[in-house]
Amino acid sequence: MIIELKKGIGAERANQIAKENNAFLIEKTDKFVLISSSGQKTLDPKYNDETLATFVFDNDMQLSSRQYLNETRAVKIGNVTIGGNSKNTLLIAGPCSVESEAQIQESSALLKSLNLTTLRGGCYKPRTSPYSFQGLGLEGLKLLKKMNEEHGLTVITEVRDATHVQEVIEYSDVIQVGAKAMYDQGILRACAKTQKPVLIKRGFGTTLQEFVQCAEFVLSGGNENVVLCERGIRTFETKTRFTLDLCGVSYLKEHTNLPVVLDPSHAMGHAYGVPDLTRACIAMGIDGLLIEVHPTPKLAKSDASQQLNHEEFKALVKTLQPVAAAVGMNIV
Ligand code: PEP
Ligand code: MN
Repeated sequence: MIIELKKGIGAERANQIAKENNAFLIEKTDKFVLISSSGQKTLDPKYNDETLATFVFDNDMQLSSRQYLNETRAVKIGNVTIGGNSKNTLLIAGPCSVESEAQIQESSALLKSLNLTTLRGGCYKPRTSPYSFQGLGLEGLKLLKKMNEEHGLTVITEVRDATHVQEVIEYSDVIQVGAKAMYDQGILRACAKTQKPVLIKRGFGTTLQEFVQCAEFVLSGGNENVVLCERGIRTFETKTRFTLDLCGVSYLKEHTNLPVVLDPSHAMGHAYGVPDLTRACIAMGIDGLLIEVHPTPKLAKSDASQQLNHEEFKALVKTLQPVAAAVGMNIV
């Protein structure tokens, strides 16, 4: 249950009501929002004069639901707003992993040449094998910070586990919670305590309900800057790496108020399919895309097969605006 209280009652009284109802309190500029975690379905009428609205839900999609807020939340990614009234589809691009300063400088130069603002690159890689490249760790985070300072790029990088979540929060502008990490409540709870945007990737065996519940951990802990990312789920099919669940994207757009970003690179697993898939995603009127691009994909230390080279990426970007325009969106 969500209880919205009048701002005029003051923080002390709001805290008292929160305590009496076993609820978590979020203070907003115009109201107090109490999130009751006790399964409570009604509010004692003695609070009527202090209450603006109450929302009762029949499942655990609460703050993220259209029933609570019937519009897509606006989330600021650097200087770009996605969701809200923005009509922006934000193109986030960069290598799978930050590998060296020379490599990430080349990626930054590519983005700048295309007027793109948001650079991705993993530093703590959640590899399937302990013998594969695990990422540069803190050294990589420092390189991303440098790209932010030298080129004004907004940087997004992933958290692999709770041991380095504070480091990632400190060095990045947007925190990516990876498909394998999204169930880690240590990560989710730490992400709830910052106001930096958090992009949560759907686990490849995760139902839409579980996916949204992960977002609820961050939202109900006090950070409303949450973005969902569909990156493909595992099906019986093995010719492609995963199956991009566009039906799921429709579900999320219809039932949740969170911006949705799509990741065709990880879903497809092969560079040849990424351009078509990217255009298909844009045609759904989505809030953002996450595309892997590498100066020399063959030499990439992770996800080599799916990364576009710079020429392929530039050619792809040229084709996107008309598709976005057809659904009233703008590539930024
Ligand atoms: C990535 O973005 O490079 C990544 C590892 O993604 P995922 O968590 O979706 O596998
Ligand atoms: Mn990758």
